[in-house]
Amino acid sequence: MPFAKRAQFRAAAVVRNRDRGGSGGGLYHAVADLAPAQMDFEQTPEQVQLRKEVRDFAQREIAPRVMEWDENQIFPVETVKKLGELGYMGAIFPEELGGAGLGYIEYSILIEELARVDASVGLIVAAHTSLCSNHIYLAGSPEQRSRYIPKLATAEWIGCWSLTEPEAGSDAAGTRTTAIRSGDDWVLNGGKTFTTNAHHADVCVAMAVTDRSASQHGISAFILEKGTPGFRVGKKENKLGMRASDTGEVLFQDCRLPACNLLGKPGEGFVDSLRVLDGGRISIAALSIGIAQGAFDAALKYSKTRKQFGRPISEFQAIQHKLADMATSIEAARLLTYRSGWMKDQDQRVTKESSMAKLFASEMAVRVCDEALQIHGGYGFIKDYPVEKFYRDVKLCTIGEGTSEIQRLVIARQLLKS
Ligand SMILES: Cc1cc2nc3c(=O)[nH]c(=O)nc-3n(C[C@H](O)[C@H](O)[C@H](O)COP(=O)(O)OP(=O)(O)OC[C@H]3O[C@@H](n4cnc5c(N)ncnc54)[C@H](O)[C@@H]3O)c2cc1C
Repeated sequence: MPFAKRAQFRAAAVVRNRDRGGSGGGLYHAVADLAPAQMDFEQTPEQVQLRKEVRDFAQREIAPRVMEWDENQIFPVETVKKLGELGYMGAIFPEELGGAGLGYIEYSILIEELARVDASVGLIVAAHTSLCSNHIYLAGSPEQRSRYIPKLATAEWIGCWSLTEPEAGSDAAGTRTTAIRSGDDWVLNGGKTFTTNAHHADVCVAMAVTDRSASQHGISAFILEKGTPGFRVGKKENKLGMRASDTGEVLFQDCRLPACNLLGKPGEGFVDSLRVLDGGRISIAALSIGIAQGAFDAALKYSKTRKQFGRPISEFQAIQHKLADMATSIEAARLLTYRSGWMKDQDQRVTKESSMAKLFASEMAVRVCDEALQIHGGYGFIKDYPVEKFYRDVKLCTIGEGTSEIQRLVIARQLLKS
Protein backbone atom coordinates (compact mmCIF):
# COMPACT_ATOMS: atom_id res chain seq x y z
CA MET A 1 0.00 0.00 0.00
CA PRO A 2 1.62 3.29 -1.05
CA PHE A 3 0.65 5.11 2.14
CA ALA A 4 2.60 2.76 4.42
CA LYS A 5 5.96 3.97 3.13
CA ARG A 6 4.87 7.54 3.60
CA ALA A 7 4.05 6.92 7.24
CA GLN A 8 7.64 5.77 7.84
CA PHE A 9 8.88 8.82 6.00
CA ARG A 10 6.74 11.04 8.18
CA ALA A 11 8.09 9.47 11.35
CA ALA A 12 11.60 10.17 10.04
CA ALA A 13 10.64 13.77 9.31
CA VAL A 14 9.41 14.21 12.89
CA VAL A 15 12.75 12.90 14.19
CA ARG A 16 14.62 15.23 11.79
CA ASN A 17 12.59 18.18 12.99
CA ARG A 18 13.21 17.29 16.64
CA ASP A 19 16.93 16.96 15.98
CA ARG A 20 16.92 20.40 14.41
CA GLY A 21 15.67 21.90 17.65
CA GLY A 22 11.91 21.30 17.49
CA SER A 23 11.37 19.98 20.99
CA GLY A 24 7.75 18.98 20.46
CA GLY A 25 6.76 21.71 22.89
CA GLY A 26 4.96 23.67 20.17
CA LEU A 27 5.63 26.76 18.14
CA TYR A 28 5.95 29.25 20.98
CA HIS A 29 8.27 26.98 22.91
CA ALA A 30 10.42 26.71 19.79
CA VAL A 31 10.52 30.48 19.34
CA ALA A 32 11.53 30.91 22.97
CA ASP A 33 14.35 28.42 22.40
CA LEU A 34 15.39 30.30 19.26
CA ALA A 35 14.85 27.17 17.22
CA PRO A 36 13.57 28.58 13.93
CA ALA A 37 13.43 25.16 12.27
CA GLN A 38 9.89 24.80 13.65
CA MET A 39 8.70 27.55 11.31
CA ASP A 40 8.91 25.45 8.18
CA PHE A 41 6.58 26.22 5.28
CA GLU A 42 8.13 23.73 2.92
CA GLN A 43 6.10 20.69 2.00
CA THR A 44 7.84 17.41 2.60
CA PRO A 45 8.65 15.24 -0.42
CA GLU A 46 5.96 12.77 0.60
CA GLN A 47 3.37 15.56 0.86
CA VAL A 48 4.29 16.67 -2.67
CA GLN A 49 4.08 13.06 -3.84
CA LEU A 50 0.74 12.52 -2.09
CA ARG A 51 -0.72 15.60 -3.77
CA LYS A 52 0.45 14.35 -7.16
CA GLU A 53 -0.96 10.86 -6.59
CA VAL A 54 -4.36 12.12 -5.46
CA ARG A 55 -4.48 14.68 -8.27
CA ASP A 56 -3.73 11.97 -10.83
CA PHE A 57 -6.36 9.70 -9.30
CA ALA A 58 -8.97 12.47 -9.31
CA GLN A 59 -8.25 13.39 -12.94
CA ARG A 60 -8.32 9.78 -14.08
CA GLU A 61 -11.12 8.27 -12.00
CA ILE A 62 -13.37 11.16 -11.00
CA ALA A 63 -13.17 14.02 -13.54
CA PRO A 64 -14.76 12.12 -16.45
CA ARG A 65 -17.91 11.30 -14.42
CA VAL A 66 -18.42 14.40 -12.29
CA MET A 67 -21.44 15.81 -14.11
CA GLU A 68 -23.10 12.41 -14.57
CA TRP A 69 -22.90 11.79 -10.83
CA ASP A 70 -24.05 15.31 -10.03
CA GLU A 71 -27.05 15.38 -12.35
CA ASN A 72 -28.25 11.91 -11.42
CA GLN A 73 -27.28 12.15 -7.75
CA ILE A 74 -25.17 9.01 -8.03
CA PHE A 75 -23.08 8.09 -4.99
CA PRO A 76 -19.79 6.86 -6.50
CA VAL A 77 -19.49 3.56 -4.60
CA GLU A 78 -16.80 2.04 -6.82
CA THR A 79 -14.62 5.14 -6.58
CA VAL A 80 -14.96 5.16 -2.80
CA LYS A 81 -13.89 1.49 -2.69
CA LYS A 82 -10.85 2.32 -4.85
CA LEU A 83 -9.99 5.18 -2.50
CA GLY A 84 -10.14 2.62 0.30
CA GLU A 85 -7.76 0.26 -1.52
CA LEU A 86 -5.29 3.13 -1.89
CA GLY A 87 -5.40 3.94 1.82
CA TYR A 88 -7.25 7.22 1.32
CA MET A 89 -10.26 6.32 3.49
CA GLY A 90 -8.25 5.98 6.68
CA ALA A 91 -5.44 8.46 6.19
CA ILE A 92 -5.23 9.66 9.81
CA PHE A 93 -5.36 6.30 11.59
CA PRO A 94 -2.37 4.20 12.66
CA GLU A 95 -1.12 1.51 10.35
CA GLU A 96 -1.75 -1.21 12.94
CA LEU A 97 -5.47 -0.38 12.59
CA GLY A 98 -5.31 -0.46 8.80
CA GLY A 99 -4.85 3.30 8.40
CA ALA A 100 -2.11 5.17 6.57
CA GLY A 101 -0.57 6.72 9.71
CA LEU A 102 -0.57 10.21 8.25
CA GLY A 103 -1.26 13.56 9.86
CA TYR A 104 -3.83 16.27 9.36
CA ILE A 105 -1.73 18.22 6.84
CA GLU A 106 -1.61 15.17 4.57
CA TYR A 107 -5.30 14.55 5.23
CA SER A 108 -6.03 18.16 4.22
CA ILE A 109 -4.04 17.71 1.00
CA LEU A 110 -6.08 14.60 0.23
CA ILE A 111 -9.45 16.31 0.78
CA GLU A 112 -8.27 19.41 -1.08
CA GLU A 113 -7.21 17.49 -4.18
CA LEU A 114 -10.41 15.46 -4.29
CA ALA A 115 -12.57 18.57 -3.85
CA ARG A 116 -10.62 20.38 -6.56
CA VAL A 117 -12.21 17.92 -8.98
CA ASP A 118 -15.42 16.87 -7.17
CA ALA A 119 -16.43 18.34 -3.83
CA SER A 120 -18.95 15.54 -3.27
CA VAL A 121 -16.16 12.96 -3.17
CA GLY A 122 -14.21 15.16 -0.76
CA LEU A 123 -17.27 15.41 1.49
CA ILE A 124 -17.88 11.65 1.41
CA VAL A 125 -14.29 10.99 2.51
CA ALA A 126 -14.39 13.75 5.15
CA ALA A 127 -17.64 12.58 6.81
CA HIS A 128 -16.47 8.97 6.73
CA THR A 129 -12.99 9.69 8.09
CA SER A 130 -12.97 12.65 10.43
CA LEU A 131 -16.51 12.26 11.77
CA CYS A 132 -17.56 8.58 11.90
CA SER A 133 -14.21 6.75 12.01
CA ASN A 134 -12.48 9.40 14.10
CA HIS A 135 -15.24 9.39 16.74
CA ILE A 136 -14.71 5.62 17.09
CA TYR A 137 -10.95 6.12 17.16
CA LEU A 138 -11.07 8.93 19.75
CA ALA A 139 -13.67 7.51 22.13
CA GLY A 140 -13.79 3.81 21.31
CA SER A 141 -12.63 0.90 23.46
CA PRO A 142 -9.76 -1.23 22.09
CA GLU A 143 -12.38 -3.79 20.97
CA GLN A 144 -14.43 -1.14 19.17
CA ARG A 145 -11.36 0.30 17.51
CA SER A 146 -10.21 -3.06 16.26
CA ARG A 147 -13.68 -4.11 15.10
CA TYR A 148 -14.44 -0.95 13.13
CA ILE A 149 -11.36 1.08 12.17
CA PRO A 150 -9.67 -1.51 9.90
CA LYS A 151 -12.86 -2.08 7.91
CA LEU A 152 -13.60 1.66 7.72
CA ALA A 153 -10.02 2.56 6.81
CA THR A 154 -10.14 0.27 3.79
CA ALA A 155 -13.71 1.29 2.85
CA GLU A 156 -14.88 -2.28 3.25
CA TRP A 157 -17.43 -0.44 5.38
CA ILE A 158 -18.62 3.09 4.78
CA GLY A 159 -19.34 5.28 7.80
CA CYS A 160 -21.70 8.11 8.67
CA TRP A 161 -22.10 10.35 11.71
CA SER A 162 -25.46 11.59 12.97
CA LEU A 163 -25.67 14.52 15.32
CA THR A 164 -28.11 16.92 13.63
CA GLU A 165 -31.86 16.55 14.13
CA PRO A 166 -34.78 18.47 12.62
CA GLU A 167 -35.09 20.54 15.83
CA ALA A 168 -31.43 20.42 16.84
CA GLY A 169 -29.09 21.93 14.25
CA SER A 170 -26.78 24.67 15.51
CA ASP A 171 -28.13 23.89 18.97
CA ALA A 172 -27.03 20.27 18.66
CA ALA A 173 -27.26 19.76 22.42
CA GLY A 174 -31.02 20.04 21.93
CA THR A 175 -31.00 16.43 20.70
CA ARG A 176 -34.35 14.67 21.15
CA THR A 177 -33.44 11.14 20.13
CA THR A 178 -33.44 9.03 23.28
CA ALA A 179 -31.59 5.93 24.43
CA ILE A 180 -33.18 4.23 27.42
CA ARG A 181 -31.47 1.51 29.41
CA SER A 182 -33.34 -1.81 29.30
CA GLY A 183 -31.53 -4.56 31.16
CA ASP A 184 -28.11 -4.86 29.53
CA ASP A 185 -29.30 -3.11 26.37
CA TRP A 186 -30.04 0.41 25.18
CA VAL A 187 -33.24 1.16 23.25
CA LEU A 188 -33.07 4.07 20.79
CA ASN A 189 -36.03 6.07 19.52
CA GLY A 190 -36.00 9.18 17.37
CA GLY A 191 -34.46 10.41 14.19
CA LYS A 192 -31.59 12.34 12.67
CA THR A 193 -31.51 14.52 9.60
CA PHE A 194 -28.85 15.70 7.13
CA THR A 195 -26.56 12.71 7.66
CA THR A 196 -23.84 12.54 4.99
CA ASN A 197 -23.36 9.03 3.53
CA ALA A 198 -26.55 7.84 5.28
CA HIS A 199 -27.85 5.69 2.45
CA HIS A 200 -24.56 3.91 1.81
CA ALA A 201 -23.30 3.56 5.35
CA ASP A 202 -22.57 0.22 6.96
CA VAL A 203 -21.77 1.90 10.27
CA CYS A 204 -23.37 4.93 11.90
CA VAL A 205 -22.26 6.83 14.98
CA ALA A 206 -25.33 8.55 16.44
CA MET A 207 -25.91 10.74 19.47
CA ALA A 208 -28.89 10.20 21.78
CA VAL A 209 -30.05 11.56 25.14
CA THR A 210 -29.41 9.12 27.97
CA ASP A 211 -30.01 11.54 30.87
CA ARG A 212 -32.10 14.60 30.06
CA SER A 213 -31.36 16.23 33.45
CA ALA A 214 -27.61 16.26 32.77
CA SER A 215 -27.91 18.55 29.73
CA GLN A 216 -24.74 18.42 27.58
CA HIS A 217 -23.37 15.65 29.81
CA GLY A 218 -26.48 13.55 29.28
CA ILE A 219 -25.97 12.78 25.58
CA SER A 220 -24.24 9.53 24.64
CA ALA A 221 -22.82 8.18 21.40
CA PHE A 222 -23.74 4.79 19.95
CA ILE A 223 -22.39 2.67 17.12
CA LEU A 224 -25.05 1.17 14.88
CA GLU A 225 -24.52 -1.40 12.16
CA LYS A 226 -26.61 -1.62 9.03
CA GLY A 227 -29.30 -4.27 9.40
CA THR A 228 -29.85 -3.75 13.13
CA PRO A 229 -33.62 -4.14 13.72
CA GLY A 230 -35.27 -0.75 14.31
CA PHE A 231 -32.50 1.16 12.53
CA ARG A 232 -33.16 2.43 9.02
CA VAL A 233 -32.54 5.32 6.68
CA GLY A 234 -35.37 7.62 5.63
CA LYS A 235 -35.66 10.41 3.10
CA LYS A 236 -32.71 11.18 0.86
CA GLU A 237 -32.44 14.94 0.32
CA ASN A 238 -32.49 16.47 -3.16
CA LYS A 239 -29.81 19.16 -2.87
CA LEU A 240 -28.54 22.34 -4.50
CA GLY A 241 -24.98 21.02 -4.56
CA MET A 242 -22.83 18.14 -3.32
CA ARG A 243 -25.34 16.02 -5.17
CA ALA A 244 -23.19 12.90 -5.51
CA SER A 245 -22.87 12.82 -1.73
CA ASP A 246 -25.92 11.32 -0.03
CA THR A 247 -27.58 13.38 2.66
CA GLY A 248 -30.42 11.70 4.46
CA GLU A 249 -32.46 10.82 7.49
CA VAL A 250 -31.44 8.13 9.95
CA LEU A 251 -34.30 6.72 12.00
CA PHE A 252 -34.54 4.64 15.17
CA GLN A 253 -37.67 2.83 16.27
CA ASP A 254 -37.31 0.68 19.37
CA CYS A 255 -33.81 -0.03 18.15
CA ARG A 256 -32.20 -2.35 20.71
CA LEU A 257 -28.42 -2.19 21.05
CA PRO A 258 -26.18 -4.23 23.34
CA ALA A 259 -24.23 -2.25 25.95
CA CYS A 260 -21.02 -2.80 23.97
CA ASN A 261 -22.38 -0.45 21.26
CA LEU A 262 -22.15 2.53 23.60
CA LEU A 263 -19.23 4.63 22.33
CA GLY A 264 -17.20 6.41 24.99
CA LYS A 265 -18.39 7.12 28.51
CA PRO A 266 -22.15 7.34 29.15
CA GLY A 267 -23.26 10.97 28.87
CA GLU A 268 -20.05 12.15 27.18
CA GLY A 269 -21.09 11.63 23.55
CA PHE A 270 -21.85 15.30 22.95
CA VAL A 271 -18.63 16.49 24.54
CA ASP A 272 -16.72 13.92 22.46
CA SER A 273 -18.60 15.20 19.40
CA LEU A 274 -17.14 18.65 19.98
CA ARG A 275 -13.64 17.13 20.00
CA VAL A 276 -14.49 15.23 16.82
CA LEU A 277 -15.66 18.48 15.21
CA ASP A 278 -12.34 20.15 16.08
CA GLY A 279 -10.73 17.79 13.56
CA GLY A 280 -13.73 17.71 11.22
CA ARG A 281 -13.57 21.44 10.71
CA ILE A 282 -10.03 21.13 9.38
CA SER A 283 -11.44 18.83 6.71
CA ILE A 284 -14.21 21.30 5.80
CA ALA A 285 -11.57 24.03 5.53
CA ALA A 286 -9.59 21.76 3.19
CA LEU A 287 -12.76 20.98 1.25
CA SER A 288 -13.34 24.72 0.82
CA ILE A 289 -9.77 25.28 -0.38
CA GLY A 290 -10.08 22.46 -2.91
CA ILE A 291 -13.31 23.87 -4.32
CA ALA A 292 -11.85 27.39 -4.46
CA GLN A 293 -8.69 26.11 -6.17
CA GLY A 294 -10.74 24.20 -8.76
CA ALA A 295 -12.85 27.27 -9.50
CA PHE A 296 -9.77 29.51 -9.64
CA ASP A 297 -7.92 27.16 -12.01
CA ALA A 298 -10.94 27.12 -14.33
CA ALA A 299 -11.26 30.92 -14.23
CA LEU A 300 -7.54 31.49 -14.87
CA LYS A 301 -7.60 29.16 -17.88
CA TYR A 302 -10.79 30.70 -19.25
CA SER A 303 -9.51 34.25 -18.85
CA LYS A 304 -6.53 33.45 -21.08
CA THR A 305 -8.62 32.02 -23.90
CA ARG A 306 -11.77 34.15 -23.88
CA LYS A 307 -11.32 37.20 -26.11
CA GLN A 308 -13.39 40.37 -25.99
CA PHE A 309 -12.56 43.74 -27.51
CA GLY A 310 -9.88 41.94 -29.53
CA ARG A 311 -7.84 40.56 -26.63
CA PRO A 312 -7.94 37.91 -23.92
CA ILE A 313 -9.99 39.11 -20.95
CA SER A 314 -6.95 38.29 -18.74
CA GLU A 315 -5.38 41.47 -20.14
CA PHE A 316 -8.04 43.63 -18.51
CA GLN A 317 -6.92 44.96 -15.16
CA ALA A 318 -10.33 44.33 -13.58
CA ILE A 319 -9.94 40.59 -14.33
CA GLN A 320 -6.30 40.56 -13.18
CA HIS A 321 -7.30 42.09 -9.85
CA LYS A 322 -9.95 39.44 -9.36
CA LEU A 323 -7.43 36.68 -10.09
CA ALA A 324 -4.88 38.24 -7.73
CA ASP A 325 -7.40 38.53 -4.88
CA MET A 326 -8.64 34.99 -5.44
CA ALA A 327 -5.16 33.44 -5.44
CA THR A 328 -4.10 35.45 -2.37
CA SER A 329 -7.13 34.46 -0.33
CA ILE A 330 -6.76 30.77 -1.25
CA GLU A 331 -3.15 30.84 -0.03
CA ALA A 332 -4.14 32.58 3.21
CA ALA A 333 -6.81 29.94 3.89
CA ARG A 334 -4.34 27.18 3.13
CA LEU A 335 -1.87 28.55 5.68
CA LEU A 336 -4.55 28.76 8.39
CA THR A 337 -5.69 25.23 7.62
CA TYR A 338 -2.25 23.65 7.53
CA ARG A 339 -1.36 25.44 10.77
CA SER A 340 -4.38 23.98 12.54
CA GLY A 341 -3.53 20.58 11.01
CA TRP A 342 0.04 20.90 12.26
CA MET A 343 -1.18 21.82 15.76
CA LYS A 344 -3.55 18.85 15.77
CA ASP A 345 -0.66 16.59 14.84
CA GLN A 346 1.25 17.96 17.87
CA ASP A 347 -1.75 16.95 20.02
CA GLN A 348 -2.54 20.58 20.73
CA ARG A 349 -6.12 21.75 21.29
CA VAL A 350 -7.37 23.29 18.03
CA THR A 351 -10.91 24.40 18.86
CA LYS A 352 -10.17 28.05 18.04
CA GLU A 353 -7.72 27.41 15.20
CA SER A 354 -9.83 24.84 13.33
CA SER A 355 -12.89 27.10 13.64
CA MET A 356 -10.85 30.03 12.30
CA ALA A 357 -9.62 27.91 9.39
CA LYS A 358 -13.12 26.64 8.63
CA LEU A 359 -14.72 30.08 8.90
CA PHE A 360 -12.11 31.85 6.79
CA ALA A 361 -11.68 29.10 4.18
CA SER A 362 -15.41 28.51 3.64
CA GLU A 363 -16.28 32.20 3.31
CA MET A 364 -13.24 32.74 1.08
CA ALA A 365 -14.31 29.82 -1.13
CA VAL A 366 -17.84 31.20 -1.58
CA ARG A 367 -16.34 34.53 -2.72
CA VAL A 368 -13.79 32.87 -5.00
CA CYS A 369 -16.46 30.72 -6.69
CA ASP A 370 -18.61 33.80 -7.18
CA GLU A 371 -15.72 35.64 -8.86
CA ALA A 372 -14.77 32.58 -10.92
CA LEU A 373 -18.29 32.45 -12.28
CA GLN A 374 -18.23 36.19 -12.95
CA ILE A 375 -15.01 35.82 -14.95
CA HIS A 376 -16.81 33.26 -17.14
CA GLY A 377 -19.65 35.72 -17.84
CA GLY A 378 -22.72 33.94 -19.25
CA TYR A 379 -20.75 30.75 -19.82
CA GLY A 380 -20.27 30.43 -16.08
CA PHE A 381 -24.02 30.04 -15.76
CA ILE A 382 -24.26 26.96 -17.94
CA LYS A 383 -23.32 23.40 -17.17
CA ASP A 384 -20.74 23.01 -19.96
CA TYR A 385 -18.23 24.78 -17.70
CA PRO A 386 -17.17 23.47 -14.28
CA VAL A 387 -17.61 26.73 -12.32
CA GLU A 388 -21.39 26.33 -12.26
CA LYS A 389 -20.99 23.22 -10.12
CA PHE A 390 -18.29 24.69 -7.85
CA TYR A 391 -20.63 27.63 -7.26
CA ARG A 392 -23.44 25.28 -6.12
CA ASP A 393 -21.25 22.90 -4.11
CA VAL A 394 -19.33 25.52 -2.18
CA LYS A 395 -22.26 26.88 -0.18
CA LEU A 396 -22.36 23.77 2.00
CA CYS A 397 -18.96 24.75 3.41
CA THR A 398 -20.36 27.75 5.33
CA ILE A 399 -23.12 25.52 6.79
CA GLY A 400 -21.91 21.96 7.48
CA GLU A 401 -20.08 21.14 10.75
CA GLY A 402 -21.29 24.43 12.17
CA THR A 403 -22.41 27.52 10.27
CA SER A 404 -20.22 30.61 9.96
CA GLU A 405 -22.28 32.23 12.71
CA ILE A 406 -21.54 29.29 15.02
CA GLN A 407 -17.81 29.36 14.13
CA ARG A 408 -17.74 33.01 15.20
CA LEU A 409 -19.39 32.04 18.50
CA VAL A 410 -16.82 29.27 19.04
CA ILE A 411 -13.89 31.57 18.23
CA ALA A 412 -15.22 34.41 20.38
CA ARG A 413 -15.81 32.05 23.31
CA GLN A 414 -12.19 30.87 23.10
CA LEU A 415 -10.90 34.45 22.84
CA LEU A 416 -12.91 35.57 25.86
CA LYS A 417 -11.61 32.64 27.93
CA SER A 418 -8.05 33.88 27.73
C1 LIG B 1 -25.25 18.71 2.80
C2 LIG B 1 -25.23 18.64 4.29
C3 LIG B 1 -24.52 17.64 4.92
C4 LIG B 1 -24.56 17.53 6.33
N1 LIG B 1 -23.93 16.46 6.93
C5 LIG B 1 -24.12 16.26 8.26
C6 LIG B 1 -23.65 15.05 8.88
O1 LIG B 1 -23.01 14.21 8.25
N2 LIG B 1 -23.92 14.87 10.19
C7 LIG B 1 -24.61 15.78 10.93
O2 LIG B 1 -24.83 15.53 12.11
N3 LIG B 1 -25.04 16.94 10.38
C8 LIG B 1 -24.83 17.19 9.06
N4 LIG B 1 -25.31 18.33 8.47
C9 LIG B 1 -26.05 19.29 9.28
C10 LIG B 1 -25.35 20.62 9.50
O3 LIG B 1 -24.28 20.46 10.38
C11 LIG B 1 -26.40 21.61 9.97
O4 LIG B 1 -27.21 21.91 8.84
C12 LIG B 1 -25.81 22.87 10.56
O5 LIG B 1 -25.16 22.59 11.77
C13 LIG B 1 -26.87 23.95 10.78
O6 LIG B 1 -28.00 23.47 11.42
P1 LIG B 1 -29.44 23.81 10.79
O7 LIG B 1 -29.40 23.43 9.37
O8 LIG B 1 -30.48 23.18 11.64
O9 LIG B 1 -29.57 25.39 10.86
P2 LIG B 1 -30.09 26.26 12.12
O10 LIG B 1 -29.35 25.86 13.35
O11 LIG B 1 -31.58 26.23 12.16
O12 LIG B 1 -29.60 27.71 11.70
C14 LIG B 1 -30.35 28.59 10.87
C15 LIG B 1 -29.61 29.92 10.84
O13 LIG B 1 -29.59 30.48 12.17
C16 LIG B 1 -28.26 30.76 12.55
N5 LIG B 1 -28.08 30.56 13.99
C17 LIG B 1 -28.47 29.50 14.73
N6 LIG B 1 -28.11 29.67 16.01
C18 LIG B 1 -27.48 30.87 16.08
C19 LIG B 1 -26.87 31.62 17.13
N7 LIG B 1 -26.81 31.15 18.39
N8 LIG B 1 -26.31 32.82 16.83
C20 LIG B 1 -26.34 33.30 15.55
N9 LIG B 1 -26.91 32.64 14.53
C21 LIG B 1 -27.46 31.44 14.79
C22 LIG B 1 -27.40 29.78 11.73
O14 LIG B 1 -26.06 30.19 11.63
C23 LIG B 1 -28.15 29.79 10.41
O15 LIG B 1 -27.77 30.91 9.67
C24 LIG B 1 -25.26 18.48 7.09
C25 LIG B 1 -25.93 19.54 6.44
C26 LIG B 1 -25.95 19.61 5.07
C27 LIG B 1 -26.70 20.71 4.40
